[in-house]
Amino acid sequence: MPSLVQQLSADRQLTALRTVVQCKAKSTALREGPAADDGPGTAWVAFLCPAHSEDLPGWPATRTHAAQDTMPCGTVLDFRMAEQVLQSHADLWLTALTGVAPAAYGDVWSDVLDQADRVLRERLEQGADAGEDGPEHSMLTMMWLARRAAAEGNLMQAASALGYCETIADGTGPIDTGIAPQ
Ligand SMILES: [Zn+2]
Repeated sequence: MPSLVQQLSADRQLTALRTVVQCKAKSTALREGPAADDGPGTAWVAFLCPAHSEDLPGWPATRTHAAQDTMPCGTVLDFRMAEQVLQSHADLWLTALTGVAPAAYGDVWSDVLDQADRVLRERLEQGADAGEDGPEHSMLTMMWLARRAAAEGNLMQAASALGYCETIADGTGPIDTGIAPQ
């Protein structure tokens, strides 16, 4: 008998594995996202603990199931097309953090990520006591990888690199990273 995730995903390929909350609690709920708009199955599923299953407005549920798997709370399996995953990063944190809106760049992701990278880099250089090895430096490394991947047309890889930035942005908060909007 197929697992719940197999059923919900309709055997689609995983596009991105994301950690949208850093939480050590065991997940008890599996939140089902909206239907994918390019085929059968759900767009994404999220594993959440009791506290977080009441939270996360950016991830609206169509249904909630009892979690049958043991993914940590905050794990999202994203089955959408890479462009949609990138747009979701913009909607949830990238535009808020950098002020860069994809529509302003005609949704050309290499340009969007170039600009986001420039903003983050400048902000870090201006930060007075930014450390050499803080989370903001990890974010810049992954943003650079995302930029390069997008420049080569590999949006799947860009989405994967941005997933790491998302975890840092949510896990430490934009103020702690020293790269919050001024
Ligand atoms: Zn949690």
